[in-house]
Amino acid sequence: MGLRRGKLDAMTPPHLNALHPVQLDAAGLPLLGFSISGLATWLIAPTLGVCFDMGECPLEALSIDHVLLTHAHGDHARCVPRHWQLRRMIGNPRPGRYLMPAALVAPFADWIRAEARLEGVRGEVSLPELVGLAPGDTAPLRDDLRVTAFAASHTVVSLGYTVSERRKKLKAELEGWPGDKLAELRRRGVTLHEDRLIPKITFIGDCVASTLRDEAHIWRSPVLVIETTFVEPHEEALAAPRGHTHLNELAAVLRDLGDAPAVQALVLKHFSMRTDPARARALIQSELPESWRGRVLVLLPPPA
Ligand SMILES: [Zn+2]
Ligand SMILES: [Zn+2]
Repeated sequence: MGLRRGKLDAMTPPHLNALHPVQLDAAGLPLLGFSISGLATWLIAPTLGVCFDMGECPLEALSIDHVLLTHAHGDHARCVPRHWQLRRMIGNPRPGRYLMPAALVAPFADWIRAEARLEGVRGEVSLPELVGLAPGDTAPLRDDLRVTAFAASHTVVSLGYTVSERRKKLKAELEGWPGDKLAELRRRGVTLHEDRLIPKITFIGDCVASTLRDEAHIWRSPVLVIETTFVEPHEEALAAPRGHTHLNELAAVLRDLGDAPAVQALVLKHFSMRTDPARARALIQSELPESWRGRVLVLLPPPA
């Protein structure tokens, strides 16, 4: 378990070391991260150039230009200024962008100014780009990537994010038209194509189970990352009042949902510090509907 105070030479167990990342292959999408409730949550998708949350700032995050912050609880947000400062310290020429719920932009700017004062900076403090988002907003990341925010119900203001690939596609109403007719439209200056957003990954920080029903679009992502803070049967009553999801509540959502074939990898994270990793894995396999078991990944170190 690792939390009991014992010998002074006791090592931090790997699953509680926030700088000891877990690597996953989520249906072909590489992920690297750590997530234990109260300690830290961060998850890098290297090929997409994004990090979801920044509760710890590993060196692996310093090449990542976009941080998507779900909410301001310390275990998710504590290292946002550190990410910016470390990137400047190592001379990363790209400024980095920090996307977050709109209400957090001003407090984060104050936080960064306060840290700069503590470090002895006088006069104007330079700030990173803090981008405030509301549910439903879509913002550009790279040229080929967009992020769409949606509401997540937690104890503080919170957003979930879907990162999508932007593809130019023939407008739906023109599909099936013969080539000469399309060429004619093009000659007349009609726009034939539109952007389509193809979801790549959806990430929710902390949320109650009702978010998984209210935001039904999340089940169209090939990779879906959600929390199951509590897994033990006797902890079920703890989850909702604390803004979290219990494994049994997730099991009920999945049973009601049926197959949801678009989801190729369901990644579970943010386990309670008290939870033993092997026990969590066993409960996940025994409690979730059988059709989901082969698609569930756990953001914990692999069994020894
Ligand atoms: Zn948390
Ligand atoms: Zn939280």
